[in-house]
Amino acid sequence: MGFMLQKVSSMFSKVMLKLTVLNSTVMLLVFIIYSAVIYLYIDNKLFNNIDYSMVEAITDFSGNKAELPYRQPQNDKFKPQHPEEQHRKPPPLVDLRILVVAEDVDGRILLPEPNEKIDIEDIAMLLANTSDGSPQNKTINEHDYRILSASYPADSYPTVRVGREKFIAVKKISAITVVDPEVSMLKQLLIIIMAGTIIGFFVIIWAGHYLARRALVPIKSSWDKQQQFVTDASHELRTPIAVIKTNTELLLHHPEHTIEEESMRIAGILKESTRMGKLVATLLTLARADSNQIEMDFRGVLLSDLLRDIIEQLKPIAEMKAIHIATEIDPQIEVTGDRERLYQLFVILLDNAVKYTTANGYITVTGHINQGSVQVSIQDTGIGISKEDLPFIFERFYRGDKVRSRDDGGSGLGLAIAKWIIEKHGGKINVASVKGEGTQFHLQLPLEKKV
Ligand code: ATP
Ligand code: MG
Repeated sequence: MGFMLQKVSSMFSKVMLKLTVLNSTVMLLVFIIYSAVIYLYIDNKLFNNIDYSMVEAITDFSGNKAELPYRQPQNDKFKPQHPEEQHRKPPPLVDLRILVVAEDVDGRILLPEPNEKIDIEDIAMLLANTSDGSPQNKTINEHDYRILSASYPADSYPTVRVGREKFIAVKKISAITVVDPEVSMLKQLLIIIMAGTIIGFFVIIWAGHYLARRALVPIKSSWDKQQQFVTDASHELRTPIAVIKTNTELLLHHPEHTIEEESMRIAGILKESTRMGKLVATLLTLARADSNQIEMDFRGVLLSDLLRDIIEQLKPIAEMKAIHIATEIDPQIEVTGDRERLYQLFVILLDNAVKYTTANGYITVTGHINQGSVQVSIQDTGIGISKEDLPFIFERFYRGDKVRSRDDGGSGLGLAIAKWIIEKHGGKINVASVKGEGTQFHLQLPLEKKV
């Protein structure tokens, strides 16, 4: 038994591990994809405006809208001669951060005025190896720049004005802007995402484990129940099998005995086989009920007649124990239900009432229609059920007084089946009992079964 339990729990821990890994992987993937989407979205948002402005700047330039004069190529030093011209028109606000640099046909770099402070060397470094068309980021001297270049075909070089009258043809222009804040923000975001992923990793594993455990709780409990059921059933079947075996062996010891001489043993075998047959049939019913294999045959059933039939059948047994049965049943109570199952249900309850009521007791059966449902109550003045037993009597194989009930043939499955039947009919069953005074089962059945 201990070995089996250990095996079961190791099976569950394997499933749990698998589920945890699966859960965590899925959650981690979702988390990473989500983070990546956020990162890419912010990256895109941050640079979109900048790129747009750079494209504008370049377009303006090619459309010869750039009115600012350019500095002479570095080899022949150019000094601005007309300072007033620099202030003629302020640069547009949106282009404030964008520097548009031109390269003449010889590859010399021209800077727009006034930009004497800018080191041509640095610009050359920035412009080295830039490809046309798509913006690029570069880091120089601990600063981050974004560069967008455009080259012109040989027959349509635009010109830039240098000084007052001089125009120089350029083959390539580049927009440069400082993107330190954007890049540092993206770096921070990346750090946050990395840290989040590391912390998230542990949280996710914990959550995956938690979810796996939660998912396994009902599975484990029904597994345990099933195990218990099989154990109890085997145990219950062992007794009749042992009795039959012993009796048969004893019969074989005396082959010369007549059937009449051995009738006690043969009767014992018969009794136990009958009991075993019943038990197996009940177990089969429960197993099928568990797997929802039993179809109920719902149709109109006259409950009043059904109850009277059963009581009629039980009367002889009741009279033997001098038990008085009183009925108070409305005529014409009709419910929608499976007649055979309802019959079985009330036999179980009335059989218990007779079985657990001592001589000279009373059993009262009432049936009324009340607010769209049928209320049936079966009350006895029997031995009652102790408080400790009361919560468990509907469980399979549960029997109130284990010692007493050995030879009355009961197996503790009756009420389990009763509960299943009543639930299948959309009804409820309740019990109230006082030990030594009596028991009352109260049933509520809907008149119309809603399917
Ligand atoms: P089976 O019905 O399978 O032959 P059983 O009667 O012992 O066996 P249940 O009908 O499920 O099993 O009942 C479970 C237990 O509930 C009984 O063993 C008994 O202790 C208690 N019980 C049920 N009905 C009554 C009652 N009317 N009065 C007192 N005890 C009852
Ligand atoms: Mg019973």
